[in-house]
Amino acid sequence: MALVDRLEDTPIRRPWLPCSIGALEETLEGSEADAFYAMLHTLGWSATRVYHALEAEGYNVGKQSINRHRSRSCRCFQATS
Ligand SMILES: [Zn+2]
Repeated sequence: MALVDRLEDTPIRRPWLPCSIGALEETLEGSEADAFYAMLHTLGWSATRVYHALEAEGYNVGKQSINRHRSRSCRCFQATS
């Protein structure tokens, strides 16, 4: 087995009961959704930095949920193996 084969084991999204980050992802639209995605996945922001940005904009999320959601270990996702 190679690393590329292990990509098949990526946890899949569950359609119910998202965590606070998953719920916010479902709520945001347009450029706000794009900015949130960038903060979480492409800009390398720490959970603390993401948390403070969300807090400053009035969003109520769990700080621990940020890295859990990012690594797909929150309740939004189900392991495939
Ligand atoms: Zn989640």
